[in-house]
Amino acid sequence: MTDPAALRSARPLLAYSLADLEARVVELGGRAFHARVVRKAVLEQGVLEYADMTSLSADLRARLDAEIPILAAVESARTVANDGTTKLLLSFPPREGGRDKPATIEVVHMPSLKPTEEDEVGATLCVSTQAGCPVACPFCASGLAGLDRNLDAHEILEQYVRGRALGPLKRSVVMGIGEPFLNLPAVTAALDVVHDEMGLGSRKITVSTVGFPDRLHRAARDNPRYQLAISLHTPDDEQRAELVPAMAGTTVDEILEAGDDWFQQTGREVTYEYALLGGVNDSVGHVQRLAEKLRGRRCTVNVIPYNPSESLPFHRPSSAAVEAFQTRLQEAGVVATVRWSRGLDGAAACGQLRSRNLD
Ligand code: SAH
Repeated sequence: MTDPAALRSARPLLAYSLADLEARVVELGGRAFHARVVRKAVLEQGVLEYADMTSLSADLRARLDAEIPILAAVESARTVANDGTTKLLLSFPPREGGRDKPATIEVVHMPSLKPTEEDEVGATLCVSTQAGCPVACPFCASGLAGLDRNLDAHEILEQYVRGRALGPLKRSVVMGIGEPFLNLPAVTAALDVVHDEMGLGSRKITVSTVGFPDRLHRAARDNPRYQLAISLHTPDDEQRAELVPAMAGTTVDEILEAGDDWFQQTGREVTYEYALLGGVNDSVGHVQRLAEKLRGRRCTVNVIPYNPSESLPFHRPSSAAVEAFQTRLQEAGVVATVRWSRGLDGAAACGQLRSRNLD
């Protein structure tokens, strides 16, 4: 194992472009094509040690090991739940010669529960884009202590590589810690590699955002290689300002219009996420007003029963209440699904492993 302190100065593998890596490998005595061999082993197979790349000479492997760390982060905790969900707590070192903060984030690997023969084998990986979050939704553990810093593209990509090392991936959701649209260049750069070199198609990658309309309008025109989920949580402007404070001043209609534009530009339907908070946004009136807003739009509402978090004053509605909310939405003509949580026993809800460790 490489000493974490030494990692701080060395540029990690995933921060190299292919061309840069080829040049460096040649400097280290290898041939240019060895760079592709290394990249392929890491990205396609999740190989995390040069020692396992046996098609390279022992000399080259030793030099690579000394000069180009494959990973940049330290794994500071790991939990494995009964359903096989693995959550890793990763700490990336400060950048800029140590002048900024380390970045502690979570990545979650969720193997399929009941793989059938038609099912592609593999797991869903949930990745983070920022250490902390500046949006500060009051029910979400990720933003409780604000933003430490954005992740670099290679730090986002490293989560995929570590996830791949736990088992094949068939799908990814960018729904971990952070707001992806506040770090979009790094997110896009990482997802391009995931798409091109790790083989996850555009429809297998979903990016979730609080939905800044101007950013959505712009991104829809850049030929995005991912599906979009927008965290709506309520049909009411006033309540949304409370639930997503960083977006006070933006109306629900403006967000839905941006979603419509996304669908028109990309041909891909938007999913609206709705974290269901008992006694807050789960009334019959909420269903009716939400259905009025969404009727006639090609979209899906994904209801997420609240994952309780210590220290937060919200509670999870009963399963019957969640099902009633879904049924009423469907009866009102809206396509609605429920996302039941995974890995609650060992891994806990989004951002909680991190906030516990930061305490
Ligand atoms: N910043 C992005 C990604 C966040 S996580 C976004 O807001 O979309 C993905 C979803 O989980 C978001 O809809 C978020 O609001 C929701 N979420 C966060 N904490 C939750 C909790 N404790 N229970 C249920 N949903 C939660």
